[in-house]
Amino acid sequence: MQEHYQVAVLGLGAMGAATLYQLSKAGANVIGVDRHAPPHTQGSSHGDTRITRLSNGEGPQYLPLVRSSHRIWRELEALSGEALFEQCGVLVMTSSSVYDPHDPADFTHRTIELAKTYGIEHQVLDAAQIRQRFGQFSPVLDSAIGYFEPQGGFLRPERCIAVQLQLAAQQGAQLRLNETVLALENEGTAVRISTDQGVIYADKVIVSAGMWSAGLLGAPFDALLRVCRQTLYWFEVSEPARFAAQSPSFILTHGPAFNDVSYGFPPLPGEGSMKIATEQYETACDPYCLDRNVSDQQIEQMYRTQVAGRFSGVGSRALKTSVCAYTVTPDYHFIIDEHPCVPNVTVVSACSGHGFKHSAGLGEALAQRCMSGRSDTDLSAFSLQRFKR
Ligand SMILES: Cc1cc2nc3c(=O)[nH]c(=O)nc-3n(C[C@H](O)[C@H](O)[C@H](O)COP(=O)(O)OP(=O)(O)OC[C@H]3O[C@@H](n4cnc5c(N)ncnc54)[C@H](O)[C@@H]3O)c2cc1C
Repeated sequence: MQEHYQVAVLGLGAMGAATLYQLSKAGANVIGVDRHAPPHTQGSSHGDTRITRLSNGEGPQYLPLVRSSHRIWRELEALSGEALFEQCGVLVMTSSSVYDPHDPADFTHRTIELAKTYGIEHQVLDAAQIRQRFGQFSPVLDSAIGYFEPQGGFLRPERCIAVQLQLAAQQGAQLRLNETVLALENEGTAVRISTDQGVIYADKVIVSAGMWSAGLLGAPFDALLRVCRQTLYWFEVSEPARFAAQSPSFILTHGPAFNDVSYGFPPLPGEGSMKIATEQYETACDPYCLDRNVSDQQIEQMYRTQVAGRFSGVGSRALKTSVCAYTVTPDYHFIIDEHPCVPNVTVVSACSGHGFKHSAGLGEALAQRCMSGRSDTDLSAFSLQRFKR
């Protein structure tokens, strides 16, 4: 007997768990497959926290997705009784001696402009106001400018994934964990999915394989996607309770380069550390042999370049570290589109390091597309077309 489903979701991290949940909610005959057992620490969705904010300096095309996601996180909380979305606010700030926060390219500037255009509740703060409200950033330069969004905050990624997979299973989705998809090909009108444990057929397939996507999908994705290793640090703080009470999630720009940025979160309850990280896009790596170790030298360098002289009360000792990866496109935006060579396969995982906050809304839109051929949210901005010019 052939196993045949209406939809197969391949990869059950942030994007896959959300899509599987929404498809099962819509009554689809659906299966989800993952090479590991999500939530896990091998992909792009671990590390306790992810920032979410309505005003995305990345562009207005993300606003409908994040709005839907904020609604869905609350629905999931009501269904599961779990805390997924902590609305502690987000501070986006530029404080730099070499970079003008009024430069139109500045991320804080773009965030403020977008919030103004789309009527997103926010406050614009000058240096004195930032110092008064958020004493953990020190020194704040006189030229600094801040954007505070009270509706933003952080998500608990592992719990978001776990809750959606549990609900999907309760709603009738089949889950196959620790099973690796090896190949996809068309057979008649169906897609034939070969795994290390057998063959599955589906009318439609969603590939949400994160950093492993290019290996599974081949051309043109292998030429478009780069996997960039990222490191996360939980630095010791002297007064975690004070920090937790007054800390929003934050993004701090301190220069014009991509890695002149740090971001972080309030200490989680019961923890004596604050998660602070930066981003790197220069060096690509092989997702099949990602270096999972963070050396003492990396910790020292992170502290020296991103923490020392920018925060007060944060020590140089990292109580925890982790390694994660971005799947990056040439223009740092998402790719969500049909596979040009394998009909009925939709590709969703290339989110260039800013996808989690949109994942719940994306799952809803993709499920609508599978069930009715169209989604309430317009996903055309994420089409592959833009790379064909
Ligand atoms: C360090 C870091 C910080 C980030 N911070 C933020 C943030 O603050 N805010 C934000 O919005 N976004 C953030 N992001 C981005 C966001 O977390 C990712 O875009 C998102 O989590 C990626 O989800 P995914 O489903 O594409 O990938 P994953 O969650 O990695 O899921 C892919 C899944 O596919 C499975 N898989 C892969 N290959 C196969 C196969 N062949 N067969 C079966 N299964 C397979 C894997 O096991 C995995 O479970 C951050 C990312 C990183 C790495």
